[in-house]
Amino acid sequence: MADTLHVGLARVSVDDVAHVALVENGVATPLPEFNGSMVDLIVGGTDRLNEARELARGASRIGVELSAVRLLAPIDRFRRDVICAGWNYWAHFEESKGKREGQDVDKPNAPTFFTKAPDVVIGPTDPIGWDPRISVKWDYEAEIAVIIGKTCRSVPVDAALEYVFGYCLANDVSQRDLQRRHGGQWFKGKSIDATMPLGPWIIPADTFTPDDVQLSCVVNGELRQNASTKLMAFSIAELIAEASFGMTLYAGDVLLTGTPAGIGNAMEPPCYLVEGDEVVVSATGMGELHNRFVRADLYGASDVIIGGAKA
Ligand code: MG
Repeated sequence: MADTLHVGLARVSVDDVAHVALVENGVATPLPEFNGSMVDLIVGGTDRLNEARELARGASRIGVELSAVRLLAPIDRFRRDVICAGWNYWAHFEESKGKREGQDVDKPNAPTFFTKAPDVVIGPTDPIGWDPRISVKWDYEAEIAVIIGKTCRSVPVDAALEYVFGYCLANDVSQRDLQRRHGGQWFKGKSIDATMPLGPWIIPADTFTPDDVQLSCVVNGELRQNASTKLMAFSIAELIAEASFGMTLYAGDVLLTGTPAGIGNAMEPPCYLVEGDEVVVSATGMGELHNRFVRADLYGASDVIIGGAKA
């Protein structure tokens, strides 16, 4: 990674034990004091965050090269679905016009929200199980993820960023045929098990705001998505204000902020992900998610038929 990385909080596996760790200058310093729970750290507020920083930088602490640890998803438990904004870059909204299989809508004047089931979440380098019997239209979506830091409801835009713990990356992997199949809402096509990398670590909001970082997605070495986050249709503060409107957001909740133009479904001709594909999502200073699609059995004994024929 050519750019300077911001200091972050990761979850790492050391000898098969999960630890929260501070990541700085390519080194992860495990913090056994936190029992592997990022959510407990977040709930602990500013004091707990600063305690983690001080412990990690203590003279007696020994860090581990990032290349020698397995990074886990930074959020370890979910009390609800992952909340997502759709169509939050207008170029992405426009590129898909006429390609929504009869489900086109007018340009929205408020954020479009949907959710992904919690079991989608995997680590930043984990393989993604791919099964063409589940979908023949696997696609990628590079996104910035917001980690909520304090429980809140109906917060105004001007105060919304006060409720953010930090930011990381996500790949909102989608199955376009499933996304269209079930009544015009997207839940199933966004919720296939173990398909959403999250991480590589959370950059605390008291040191960083991703309001103008370059967000990109590279598939097998080919740049597919590349846009500044300043092109978001609705800002992160606006998304939080709208998502929290009459609905409590909790510390540790994850909010995805939408993807730029360049998805495979909008290419001419469309280009979908297949077994062996490598997808890298990155953003300036935030590190990267690096995941390979590997053949898996997600179909089991199902008799549902997708894509015209039972494989
Ligand atoms: Mg998305």
